[in-house]
Amino acid sequence: MFKRFRRLRLNENLRLMLEENYLSVNDLIYPLFVVDGKNVRNEISSMPGVFQLSIDEILKECKELERLGIKAIILFGVLEEAKKDSVGSDALNEEGLIARSLKEIKRAFPSLFVITDLCFCEYTDHGHCGIIDPIKQTVDNDLTLEISAKQALIHARAGADMIAPSGMMDGIVGTLRKALDEEGFENLPIMAYSSKFASAFYGPFRDVANSSPSYGDRRSYQMNFANGKEALLESLEDEKQGADLLMIKPALAYLDVIKDISNHSKLPLCVYNVSGEYALLKAGARLGVIDYERVLLETVMSFKRAGAKLIISYHAKEVANLLTKFA
Ligand SMILES: [Zn+2]
Repeated sequence: MFKRFRRLRLNENLRLMLEENYLSVNDLIYPLFVVDGKNVRNEISSMPGVFQLSIDEILKECKELERLGIKAIILFGVLEEAKKDSVGSDALNEEGLIARSLKEIKRAFPSLFVITDLCFCEYTDHGHCGIIDPIKQTVDNDLTLEISAKQALIHARAGADMIAPSGMMDGIVGTLRKALDEEGFENLPIMAYSSKFASAFYGPFRDVANSSPSYGDRRSYQMNFANGKEALLESLEDEKQGADLLMIKPALAYLDVIKDISNHSKLPLCVYNVSGEYALLKAGARLGVIDYERVLLETVMSFKRAGAKLIISYHAKEVANLLTKFA
């Protein structure tokens, strides 16, 4: 005697009725990269379909997202080299690139949910994620916490709906929570990049964000990709410090980490389907070696199956279109 699992697979309706996980347009968050200027629309060669956009072009993009039913964006600033300095001053300026962009986006699209990436690597001339300790030649954790609190308040005052600190500084969630609460932003949620691995999958992002470190790498603050238990410790610590959502980045090569965190934390999880994952699928499509749409849906569904609620993805618009096509 053996169990006949195929009984439940033979009828198409029954197969659909028994589907354990669903994809919804409500799960999707689209990343946008803002640059100074007007009518700027620079396509990134390693990421076809992804652009650096000036604010006027971002607003057109938001219109398109609204049409597709996508409810949230995550916003990154891409600062021109001449405006960068050692402490990322533009990120601490009420009239800086992100602050101006936020105000315009929220004015034109008040109901669009705007998440801001909070870090310094796009604003520092050395390309690291905070203030450098000149002797140790690595990011000074506690000094970076101080300026991160200032940056968070700038985002909050400019209209951010959620703040996502991505620099992997210890104590960042608690620091931001306290700073926001003290200024009356106690209802502004924090999505912690709890498990951000030092990953080669970020390669194309650095083209789009012009944020490669000018020396060294980020392994003294981002996580070693060999470690899973450490990701769980980081996540539980962020939960304790007051994170409202936890993020795992990258996604596809880290499904075990997503699953493990979803088994141990009750907070909603978000995954970042990163630039290298996007570029690989696009390259596969271009070479004609995969059925792109089906591989894409299967990839995104794997994040849901692993336990993610939300998915940040450069594919978000394509997925939204596919969901209506297959609905
Ligand atoms: Zn950074």
